[in-house]
Amino acid sequence: MSDETGEKREISLRVAETKQKDYGRGKVRLSVSAMEAIGVEVGDVVELFAKRRSASIAWPAYIEDQEDDLVRMDPLTRQNIGASIGDKVLVRKATYKRAEVVKLAVSASMQGSIQEGFQAYVKKKLFDFVVVQGDKVAVTLLGQPMMFVVVYVRPSGIVKIDDDTQVLISDKPVEELEQRPITYDDIGGLDDVILRVREMIELPMKHPELFRRLGIEPPKGVLLYGPPGVGKTLLAKAVATESEANFISIKGPEIYSKWVGESERAIRSIFRKARQSAPCVVFLDEVESIAPIRGLAYGDSRVSENVISQLLTELDGMEELENIVVLAATNRPDMLDPALLRPGRLDMLVYIPPPDLQARKEILRIHTSRMPLTEDVSLDDLASKTEGYSGADLEELVREAGMEALKRDRNASKVTLQDFERALGAVKPSITDDMVRFYAEWNEKAKKLRRVEKPELLGWI
Ligand code: ADP
Repeated sequence: MSDETGEKREISLRVAETKQKDYGRGKVRLSVSAMEAIGVEVGDVVELFAKRRSASIAWPAYIEDQEDDLVRMDPLTRQNIGASIGDKVLVRKATYKRAEVVKLAVSASMQGSIQEGFQAYVKKKLFDFVVVQGDKVAVTLLGQPMMFVVVYVRPSGIVKIDDDTQVLISDKPVEELEQRPITYDDIGGLDDVILRVREMIELPMKHPELFRRLGIEPPKGVLLYGPPGVGKTLLAKAVATESEANFISIKGPEIYSKWVGESERAIRSIFRKARQSAPCVVFLDEVESIAPIRGLAYGDSRVSENVISQLLTELDGMEELENIVVLAATNRPDMLDPALLRPGRLDMLVYIPPPDLQARKEILRIHTSRMPLTEDVSLDDLASKTEGYSGADLEELVREAGMEALKRDRNASKVTLQDFERALGAVKPSITDDMVRFYAEWNEKAKKLRRVEKPELLGWI
């Protein structure tokens, strides 16, 4: 049942945002004249090409949309073709086949949520979708978007999922999948921390003149430390979105794995890129693996020392450069080379604590915001039952409750208290007393190291 087009007329259109209600539907909106130009009708499959190729279903432009040279698509489709708003994309009628097999993978953190029978649910949700290998697709699970990567399709090329398609979920996870731009509203319970980070990072970037006038030196680097899963990375992502700065992110271990033997060069090129794209936030996640205390070096220790000195050189060299801030995160501040914490380097230390009762309630509210709950589910009660749960644990708890609901009834439309109780049995708290003690001790050390005064300029944000 392949759909052949004799000719391959294509047009170049500008990418534009689509309305929220269209998100995740696998459709792009085209004007009548654009459709005519490439010989497609509403419902036909179109091929999209910017940096990467993907496919979608052609849908009519909004009535109020007068611009003929736009193709409107959701953020996920933009990601799939590697295009931003305003970029040019080539659009043409697609040649596609019906999908025999589509294999999907989820990120490691979601892998545990996959249960029997889930394939059937996903398949139902993706009915009539067109995909190519490498695409990301989102499936809503009781209001929660869950991201998948299409890791394999048969036959190859553009395929459309139908009743006979075999939809498989791989047991090999893929790297973490970006959902959508993170904002401060996605963070529960860290209001004070958010304010401080904003005044230290966002404010100097947006109003450098203010700092100059008052003779205050903004910090060059901020280290976020705290237990795993409390929102350090989340906060960095929100800063990236909300400060309107460019964002370069690197996970410590990648410096060694991705650039084998070239780790120093990698550091140099990251900072070169940052200078070219200032204002820019450079985010170093798991920074203890880039700059561990000497002796604790990862892998080849000589390489590691060179990498540390390169990083220090870059930080010291930032003096003359405006508008670059380094944001680093670690669960293990004790493993960091102390040289990194000297003044003029990562000179602000910010502790991200495990969520308290109020914070847990907020995190639960954020993660259940689009989940239909029965009335017996009380977030207050859940918050008080989840002492020791990190933000990541709470997110998993919510997801697990959704899965429990589907296990109970494939067509469940709401998540019940019982689903949550089952989930509480399955998802355990990850923050231990030992951990809390460890960070308390480290906070004392950090107080002595903390040198930059708080600017107190919040009125400007
Ligand atoms: P960390 O970097 O501290 O190890 P992350 O920021 O990667 O932790 O958190 C993992 C996930 O857990 C986040 O993507 C988010 O879904 C959830 N999470 C963690 N902390 C919070 C929080 N304070 N508010 C909302 N969600 C959170």
